[in-house]
Amino acid sequence: MLKARLCQRIADGRIPHAQLFVGPEGSAALSLARAYAQYVQCTQRQAQDACGQCASCHKHLKLIHPDLHFVFPVTTTEKIKSKPSSQDFMGEWRQFLHQYPYGNLSDWLASIGADNKNGLIPIEESRQILQKLSLTSYESRYKILLIWLPETMNIASANALLKILEEPPPFTLFLLASQDEKQLLSTIQSRVQILRITSFLPEEIQQYLQNQATCSLPQAEEIAHLAEGNLREALRLAQETEEGSFAIFRDWLRLIYTQNLSELVQTADQLGSLRKDLQKQFLHYGLRTFRELLLVLGGGETLLRVGESQRNFVEGLAKVVKPGVLENLYTLFNEALFHLERNANAKILFLDLGLRLIPLLKA
Ligand SMILES: [Zn+2]
Repeated sequence: MLKARLCQRIADGRIPHAQLFVGPEGSAALSLARAYAQYVQCTQRQAQDACGQCASCHKHLKLIHPDLHFVFPVTTTEKIKSKPSSQDFMGEWRQFLHQYPYGNLSDWLASIGADNKNGLIPIEESRQILQKLSLTSYESRYKILLIWLPETMNIASANALLKILEEPPPFTLFLLASQDEKQLLSTIQSRVQILRITSFLPEEIQQYLQNQATCSLPQAEEIAHLAEGNLREALRLAQETEEGSFAIFRDWLRLIYTQNLSELVQTADQLGSLRKDLQKQFLHYGLRTFRELLLVLGGGETLLRVGESQRNFVEGLAKVVKPGVLENLYTLFNEALFHLERNANAKILFLDLGLRLIPLLKA
């Protein structure tokens, strides 16, 4: 709805020169500001969205549009030892936005190797802003300056920004993406149009996890519930769960492959003592791994959407699992899920499953 309102405003030619997108961590504040910039500069705007096809949209998706400038908190690092500015970190910034579109300040600082440091927007930055904005735009009618976390400006840089906002260069738009407008100077707040972005709904997070993070439905539901509207937190949990399930599943399959019966009994006891939703998650993880395996066996390795260690594992599995037994593997795991739902004894169920897998994984 907010997006529709923004689009309508642009269609009517009522483009405010400074807008503040404010929303809590893990909300769409930054991604919406980026989408807005893309929409303004799109050369074939649709009623509700940018076309996604024109040259301008392509440059936005690659974060290389010459009329879109970014300002974000920085700090000194191994690479930049003094007077850091956004310009020095553009390569890292692009990578960060691709990898963590909902990341927070710690994620960003970690990604430039500055964990445990404070990031801020220094006064030098405002001089560079003025310089960038004094140039005429290259390709679009509007130059856009997107400031991420303007609340990290110290008083000197905030005052410098205020001056620019009070006398904005022509055809320049300022987009501020903030997590907390109360930390901004009130004089800045009064110069911008404020758009409040709410946290994501659990359904939205669930959808995102299923589409983008390859979570199973029960997993996505569980995480969406825990994340409380914070998509960044949800993605972190999804990754953690994925890594946890991966380690347990990999070790368990190794026991089966080496026919280590005594440890198989122990692992069955451990799995049997987990919470039921975690047991189901384990079986779902197995099913997903078999799906990846099917892709590898079918020569579609590039379709794998998993991390590197998981990919290596699946490729290793492909060498010992014959395509003919994949169907049996699916059936066994689905049966186990079925019985688990119906309150089968979980310790026996996991031992039974392990034993049945032995002949299927034998070389
Ligand atoms: Zn376009």
